[in-house]
Amino acid sequence: MSRKPLIAGNWKMNVNHVEAVGLVQKLAWALGDFKYDPTKAECLVIPPFVDLRSVQTLIEADKIPLAWGAQDVSEHENGAYTGDISAEMLLKLGCSYVIIGHSERRQYHHESDFVVNEKTRNALAKGLTPIICVGEGLEVRRAEEHVPFTLAQVAAALEDRTPEQVAKVVIAYEPIWAIGTGEVATPEDAQEVCGAVRGKLAELYGDEVSEQVRILYGGSVKASTIVALMVKPDIDGVLVGGASLNPDEFALITRFYEASGGKSW
Ligand code: PEP
Repeated sequence: MSRKPLIAGNWKMNVNHVEAVGLVQKLAWALGDFKYDPTKAECLVIPPFVDLRSVQTLIEADKIPLAWGAQDVSEHENGAYTGDISAEMLLKLGCSYVIIGHSERRQYHHESDFVVNEKTRNALAKGLTPIICVGEGLEVRRAEEHVPFTLAQVAAALEDRTPEQVAKVVIAYEPIWAIGTGEVATPEDAQEVCGAVRGKLAELYGDEVSEQVRILYGGSVKASTIVALMVKPDIDGVLVGGASLNPDEFALITRFYEASGGKSW
C-alpha cells in the first residue's frame, strides 16, 4: 500500500493563538505518551489563520512530528480581496495543506463548485496540497442520490486539472449529516462512497492516478470509531473536527494501525 494515511484535525473557528500553543504542546505530549509513529501515518493540524504563526513556531522549534495547514485559501493571487488569504501567505507560514470546499464554507459562504475548482487550481499551482471536501446532505442521502451527488462534486472540483495534479490532491468525503452531529456513517457507508470516488478518478484520470489519491472520511470520527473505518480498502485517513480539540483523543486516533485487521500500512 503506497498511500500514507493522513490524520487531519480541523480546529474550525476554535482556539485563539495563545490557546493554540497550549493545544499543540499537549498534543505533542500525548503523541509521545501514545508512541505515535510518524512513519505509519501523517498527522496534520489545521488551525484558524490567526494561529498559524504560533503553531508554526512551536512545531519547528520543538521538532514536533506534525504538519500544519489552513482551513481555506483565496482563488486569487493577491490584491483587493478584503478578508481573503492568499496561497503565497500560507506557504510563507510553512503550510503544506489547505482545506477547500468544506461544507461549512459551501453552506455559510455560498462557495460553489466553480469556486472550489478555482481554489483547487490556485492551491495546486502554488504547491499547496488541497484537501477537497465533498459529501451530501440528509435530503440527498434519503433520496439515495449520495453517490452520484458526491461524484459530481469531485469531477467539478478537478475539472481542467492534469492527471499529475490530480494525483497530488486529497479528497475528504464528509457526509454533511454526520458532521458535528455525533452521527457517524457506518464504515460500509463510508467505503461505498470512498470506493466510488476512487472508481470515478480511475475513469477520468486512469488507475495509476486513482491509486495515488488519498481519500479521507470525515464526520464525528473518534478514537472508538477509527479502526473500523481505516481497515476499509479505500479509506486512507480521516478529517476530524470536534475530537481534534482533545489532544488525548486525537493522539489516540493516530494509533489506528495498532489494531488494523488485515490492512497493512
Ligand atoms: C469536519 O469539520 O470536517 C468534521 C468532520 O467535524 P466533526 O468531526 O466534528 O464531525
